[in-house]
Amino acid sequence: MRQYPRLTVDMKKLRGNVRAVKKLCENAGIFPAFVIKGCNGIPEAIRAAAEEGAEMIGSSRLEQLRRAKEIAPDIERLMLRIPAPSEAADVVEVADISLVSSLEALEFLDTEAGKQHKKHQVILMADLGDLREGFWETDQLVQAAIYAEQKADNLILAGVGTNLGCYGAIDVTVEKMDELVQVAETVESAIGRRLKYISGGGTTSIPRVLAKDMHPRVNMLRIGEGWLSARDLEDIWHCTIPGVEKNAFILEAEISEIRDKASYPQGVIKCDAFGNVPTYEDRGIRKRAIASAGKVDYGYPEMLEPLEEGIEVLGASSDHTLLDIQEAKRELKIGDIVKFGMKYANTVFVTGREDIAKNIIE
Ligand SMILES: *Cc1c(COP(=O)(O)O)cnc(C)c1O
Repeated sequence: MRQYPRLTVDMKKLRGNVRAVKKLCENAGIFPAFVIKGCNGIPEAIRAAAEEGAEMIGSSRLEQLRRAKEIAPDIERLMLRIPAPSEAADVVEVADISLVSSLEALEFLDTEAGKQHKKHQVILMADLGDLREGFWETDQLVQAAIYAEQKADNLILAGVGTNLGCYGAIDVTVEKMDELVQVAETVESAIGRRLKYISGGGTTSIPRVLAKDMHPRVNMLRIGEGWLSARDLEDIWHCTIPGVEKNAFILEAEISEIRDKASYPQGVIKCDAFGNVPTYEDRGIRKRAIASAGKVDYGYPEMLEPLEEGIEVLGASSDHTLLDIQEAKRELKIGDIVKFGMKYANTVFVTGREDIAKNIIE
């Protein structure tokens, strides 16, 4: 096992972030499902959620929910990715509740739940314009709701939900939440009772809660990024959840070359290792370093944030990260370790790699 690159998991921060999200949501009358897919459902994240009293854990991946079942069997498990027919048996076995966007899925989940002598809860998804999963016509969603409520003996219609800011990059506005609640209330009048959940999205819905203009009937959010890497919310939406700390996950890499070199490539520029034609800024001769980790480890070098002043990420190939260290405060040498904060995308790559060492700080 390599010593580096290494992922450091700060359990104190993770636990604190769970508490902070829980408090924010609960003060707003919202039930939080803690989503673990942003760190590949590593055991530490499941443990942090469990230790801080999370009541529901969510993931888009069944193997992560299975791990949650082993580590924290008493916490309800939410399947986030709409189920494909071949997954029906596993979904019913590992998840207590799932997001569903078709009548077909209701049918196969109902059949499977019957076979396993279980009652499976479903949340019907409305597509409000982000163009990923969800019913497009409210009428079809209502028909599906009536089916789940009246015909599917082994299903429990738990609610209506939506997902925004994933494919279509649609912002969670007051209007979008109004639309969601309208769909839910149409379902409620069709089935003659109130729904348990109106599930208003993920971390990108947090700005509404912080602005205190979230629709009062939205009572569930499915939060991942907001307590895991906790960086995108701040960088993109310019808001922070009080008490949430960044850098619960840190990437550490070892320096393997240091040299003064030109900053502008010499020769005819064609394309890089990934077939792109990047642009380079000519800053003359600069002190540079290579760290032993690359795009294969963390995906996007431009999203890494060096945790040391004066170090700049220039770019990367599969296994090498190029750093400008001209302005570094310390005298770096080969074998030194540099640390990086990560965004959501980096974290999901790094936590998914078997060959990256792990350092858990309790
Ligand atoms: C991933 C996902 C979430 C959580 O998203 P974050 O941005 O990590 O909060 C919520 N709902 C669905 C359907 C998802 O796929």
